[in-house]
Amino acid sequence: MVLFEKAPAKINLSLDVLGKSDDGHHDVEMIMTTIDLIDRIELHPLDYDLIEVTADNQYVPNDERNLAYKAADLIKRNYNITKGVYIKIEKHIPVSAGLGGGSSDAAAVLRGLNRLWKLNIPLHELAVLGVSIDSDVPFCVYGSTAIAKGQGEKIYYLPQPPPCWVVLAKPNIGVSTRTIFQQLRLEDIVHPNTEEIIDALHKKDFSLLCGNIGNVLEGVTLKLYPEAQRIKEKMTMYGALGVLMSGSGPTVFGLVEHESKAHRIYNGLRGFCHEVYVVRMFGHG
Ligand code: ATP
Repeated sequence: MVLFEKAPAKINLSLDVLGKSDDGHHDVEMIMTTIDLIDRIELHPLDYDLIEVTADNQYVPNDERNLAYKAADLIKRNYNITKGVYIKIEKHIPVSAGLGGGSSDAAAVLRGLNRLWKLNIPLHELAVLGVSIDSDVPFCVYGSTAIAKGQGEKIYYLPQPPPCWVVLAKPNIGVSTRTIFQQLRLEDIVHPNTEEIIDALHKKDFSLLCGNIGNVLEGVTLKLYPEAQRIKEKMTMYGALGVLMSGSGPTVFGLVEHESKAHRIYNGLRGFCHEVYVVRMFGHG
């Protein structure tokens, strides 16, 4: 029986770096929420010991470098599974965009194989397992809205943001997360006000939320890629209330209360930006 899993993209309402350990890992604090831009994952059971993966996107590898492959391999090795799986990925999330596409695919495979092979692994165990693939995988295992701490493996649910529209704009460049983190100077960081964002989520206060979202990687990426900076300025000029880069970028998102305004911003950006989307938060209809 073929099994299907949804793998939604995420945006960062905050991304903060609190420090760096001796082994080079960053101690992070990230508030993330899933959005209605979704990869579709098919899991076909194989009764022999093999992992196969295909993705319909030229920028995504069809071998053991695929994060979905790594997730299947992790489950097989940790739970001594000798059966196999063919993973078919229909990509809708832009690649190397800061939207966690690969991590979400990996998380969907962890959840899906847990079901397919009836392993009954609790979500928190899958999340801890997944952090060895990427720091965004634990959040993607849960989805919804949450704060991730540590290296990304400590997840605490938060209330959903107030209903709103998200305009996403990605310039025609891919960003390496590793490069951006390497260039981040801890002494230069201006920390976002994480507590205010959490307060805004509890109060469902759209303006308070928009006024406090923040990402410490933004300065690094926008300096390297001025086209992303220009998109940020345009999006603000067209009237999005909260405008921020997601993850390590280069995608910039704008939070907008009304659909008509979201489409006006979309139309304004479409002329000079490679990829533009209007979506809702995942679970807001
Ligand atoms: P992160 O910030 O976690 O790096 P991202 O959203 O910026 O995430 P992804 O779309 O996850 O970036 O892609 C990052 C890299 O991972 C790319 O080089 C891509 O080729 C590779 N990759 C491996 N597996 C996948 C997958 N299933 N989907 C997308 N990219 C994948």
